[in-house]
Amino acid sequence: MFKLLKTVFKAGDVTTKYPFKPYEVDEDFRGKPELNSDQCIVCAACTMTCPANALTMRTDPVTGDRTWSLFLGRCIFCGRCEEVCPTKAIRLTQDFELSVTNKQDLYQETTFATVTCQHCGQPFISYKELNYTIDLFKQTLDDPQLVKQKLEVLHTCPVCKRQGSLEKTANMESNMRMKLIDFKEPVRLNFKQMVEQREESAVQNSRVLAGGERR
Ligand code: SF4
Ligand code: SF4
Repeated sequence: MFKLLKTVFKAGDVTTKYPFKPYEVDEDFRGKPELNSDQCIVCAACTMTCPANALTMRTDPVTGDRTWSLFLGRCIFCGRCEEVCPTKAIRLTQDFELSVTNKQDLYQETTFATVTCQHCGQPFISYKELNYTIDLFKQTLDDPQLVKQKLEVLHTCPVCKRQGSLEKTANMESNMRMKLIDFKEPVRLNFKQMVEQREESAVQNSRVLAGGERR
């Protein structure tokens, strides 16, 4: 008995006091992802890279609001969202206590306002992402005129940009066709002229030849 007690005291505590005391995890532990909505620019990079589809983003067609959503029931704690986030708005915490009594409690959602396209009026980008991009342009471009041009492009949705570029291409093609017609016309006239000249010189030659015979 004495020997057993001696061994127990020598070994010390081999179990933890959790849940009566907090359980300390490793500093690299990957727990529950957490969003800092002030830092988030709603770029959707995390939602596109999430392999488990735990992160999603949807836009309300009526109000235009964009909702970022995390469903912890699908998260595999891989940390890809943290890696790709350009503003470090999402990070994996050390929180591992995720049990809930209601499945709805596993959802976390944040809603952001969006900007509408200046041509079609459809919501297409969040205010925060637009402002972030404008700030980047202002930092990288010195020419205010160039910044103004970029701002015009930034307030246009991708569908209208595509439409605009298709129209430009169609106009260019039609201009090219007009130029080709203008180019072909003188060539045809010259050719005609050349044939006429050749016929005329043949007639003259025959007259000279005939005159020579006469002589
Ligand atoms: S940790 Fe991985 S699975 Fe979880 S939300 Fe981030 S990207 Fe998705
Ligand atoms: S990648 Fe970062 S900034 Fe972009 S939507 Fe996700 S959390 Fe927000």
